[in-house]
This record gives sequence, structure tokens and C-alpha cells, in this order.
Amino acid sequence: MSYLEPAPIKDKENPLESMMQRFDKAVSLLGISEEMYYILKVPRQQVIVGLPVTMDNGSLRVFEGYRVVHSNILGPSKGGIRFDPGVNLDEVRALAAWMTWKCAVVDIPYGGAKGGVACNPREMSAGEIERLVRAYTVSMLDVFGPDRDIPAPDMGTGPREMAWLMDEYSKAKGMTVNGVVTGKPLVLGGSLGRTEATGRGVTSAALAAMDKLRLNPYRATAAIQGFGNVGSYAAALMHERGVSVVAISDISGGYHNANGIDIEAAMKYRNAHEGTLEGFPNAEKITNEELLSLPVDVLVPAAKEDVITVDNAASIQAKLIVEGANGPTSASADDIINQKGIVVVPDILANAGGVTVSYFEWVQNRIGYKWTLDRINRRSDRAMKDAFDRVYAASQQYKVSMRIAAYIVAIRKVAETYKFRGGY
Ligand code: NAD
Repeated sequence: MSYLEPAPIKDKENPLESMMQRFDKAVSLLGISEEMYYILKVPRQQVIVGLPVTMDNGSLRVFEGYRVVHSNILGPSKGGIRFDPGVNLDEVRALAAWMTWKCAVVDIPYGGAKGGVACNPREMSAGEIERLVRAYTVSMLDVFGPDRDIPAPDMGTGPREMAWLMDEYSKAKGMTVNGVVTGKPLVLGGSLGRTEATGRGVTSAALAAMDKLRLNPYRATAAIQGFGNVGSYAAALMHERGVSVVAISDISGGYHNANGIDIEAAMKYRNAHEGTLEGFPNAEKITNEELLSLPVDVLVPAAKEDVITVDNAASIQAKLIVEGANGPTSASADDIINQKGIVVVPDILANAGGVTVSYFEWVQNRIGYKWTLDRINRRSDRAMKDAFDRVYAASQQYKVSMRIAAYIVAIRKVAETYKFRGGY
């Protein structure tokens, strides 16, 4: 292994390894030179910091924090901050690359980054988390910046943490800089429409694909795995556009009704029952695994990674899979799905509505003006439709799946931009 090559990611079938396999395939189809391959693959900057934090009992604990800027070729880098005990440099590095391709595919002027701290926020008090966020921000003052690198929430972090980050960064700069981070609470410069943005983008992508497949939404059925932020809004909006959502699920299992689930009632039920669908009435209880193989037109995995694998891909009956989650399909299942003629709208396209509205949040912060929800929705719908059309056109041109086409569109854009900018 040359020193240029990042350490391989362990676990054969993990989603990040799957991403690299698809990246390599797209690169080989594009006929990119070896030099360019390394420019696209090797992260621009990798920062590891030790973060001493005083715990509530007076003891001092040192947490390890990371920020990887994979690319800033298209613009300032963008990517979430993950608080999770399993966070490590390999994972952050791969997630940062993922962001580069996602931003490029929807044509927003951002590179990709990711950050994380190895910690368990579920076992920490609000005060401990706040001190950790502030310590992390101070350590990253030379990395972050509205024109350099713009963090956002990811697993284990949310608007509260982003508010602390924005405050600490602003204090250090001696002025309010709300464009340094997205995913902020509305009163601090957060954007209208961000909460439902990813589910809305999933719906746009699903409708665009259904149009190509000549599937009439008013006659189509869908099954949606995961009923959190992405899955529940995707279900509600697909239902609004005429699709009959016959199955939904969460960690408690699946809920099936061939006549269609009342999505509004399901959202109300979940909100009234500590976030779970457990006991949801008027539906037959099924497993999450059974949901994946229902005879529906559209399947939306929107819960977690690696749920469609070689073990169950053959049993999928849907004509269309729209990936709301990141990495729900392992690379080894791709061939089976392609052979069955199932069309897949891949994650880096299908769930990019979230980062698109994050970009709108940053634009609003930079111009100091708040857009209406209507304007945000119209612009994000158009961005998703345009991205879908670009990827579809590439899939026709190169005669490849939409997944490989999405990587082709993204990699081609970053590589072409690099050629104009040049190196040393
Ligand atoms: P969330 O925590 O709001 O919801 C996750 C849902 O999945 C919950 O209903 C949960 O019960 C369910 N779930 C968890 N484990 C499960 C399991 N083993 N089987 C079945 N269901 C399970 O998360 P989210 O924000 O909706 O994110 C879902 C996926 O979408 C993740 O892969 C995430 O990375 C991806 N994603 C989210 C966004 C966003 O803006 N929220 C953007 C891009 C991608």
C-alpha cells in the first residue's frame, strides 16, 4: 500500500466499502487517470484532536475528536458531526468522501467533509455535551468557517448542538457568524423546510423515477422502512401525491394494510407513544424483513444501512427502490437487483434533499434574508428533479445503473472542476 492510499476500511460488506467499490467502478468507466484518481480519493485535510472536558462529578475526561475535509474543489466543504462511541478516523474519512459525491450530484457548490467525537451522548448530561461541543469547536477554529468548512448535525447531534457550535465560533471571531453551521434552530437562522427536506427529496426522486417507469402514482403502492425523520415525511408526501403506502415500519417492526395506511394517523400515533409505532392499530404486524419483499411498486428503505443484501435481494418484488437511508444496499446485492430489472434511485441522489436545504440555509444566512417555505420547496424540488435528470441521462449514455451513473455525474463534475483550477 502506498502512503497515498488511505488505510482500507475493515468489514467486507460495510456500506463505506460498498461506496468505494462503486466509486472505483465509476472511475474506471470514466477513464480517469491515476493521478486524478488519487486527487479524488485522498482527503485534503484530516484533523484529530484530544478534547479535555470537565464532567459533572468534577473529573476530567479526554475525548478524541475528528474532522476530515475530503474535498474543497467545488467550494467550502460540508458535512455533519457524529457523536457516537464507535466514531473513528476510517469511518469519518469515508463519510466525508460520501458528502463530496452527494453535494456534486445535486450540483451545490460544496466539497465534502465529516466530523465526529467518540463519545456516548446518551450517557452524558446536557452540560457535559455542551462543554464537549464548545471544546470541539475551539479545536476546529482553523478548520471551520462559512467560506471554508461548514458542519451540520449527524447521528447524536441536532439543532441544540449546532446552536452551541455557532455561539462558540461567533465568540472567538467577535461577531455573530451564523453561516458557519447549518441545522440550527429556526430562531438562530435555521431554514424553514429543513425538517421535512430529506423526505421531500425522496418523494421528488420517487415521482421522477415513476414517471420514467410509466407508473401512475395514483395506482402505485409503496412500502417504507423506517418511520423517523426521512421515512415519515416521505410516507406523508408520497401519500399526498396519490401513492398508496401499504406498509411502514420502525424498530418495533412493520405494519401492513393492503388498503393503505393512514399516514397522518400513524404520525400522530408515533408522536403520542414516545416515538414508536408499537401497537399501531388497523394494520397487520409484519417484520422489517417481510416489508422488504412485499409485492409493491415502490420500496423506500429509510431506516439504516445494509438492509438489502445478497441474502434477501432475490426476494424483492418492487419495481423501484428509492434509497432514503444512507447505504441501505450492499454492493454485492447490486448485481442481483440489476438482473431483476429493478430500478434503484441511489442514496447519494435520493436523500440529497437534506443537504440541498442545508445549502439554502447557508445562502439565507449569507444574504441576511429569510426565504418563505414556498420558495424553499420550489427550489429544492427543482434541484432534485434536475439532479435526477442528469443522473438518468448519464445512465442512458454509459448504459449503467442509476447508482453508477450518480457516481459518474459527481466524479466527472469534481474532476472537471479540478482540471480548471489546477494543482501545484
Ligand atoms: P431517525 O432516527 O429519525 O429515524 C430512523 C427510523 O428507523 C426510526 O423510525 C427507527 O425506529 C427506525 N429504525 C432504526 N433501526 C431500525 C431497524 N433495525 N429496523 C427497522 N427500523 C429501524 O433517522 P433519519 O434521520 O430518518 O435517518 C434515516 C436514514 O436516513 C439514515 O440512514 C440516515 O443516515 C439517512 N439520512 C438522513 C437524513 C436526514 O436529513 N435526516 C439525510 C440523509 C440521509
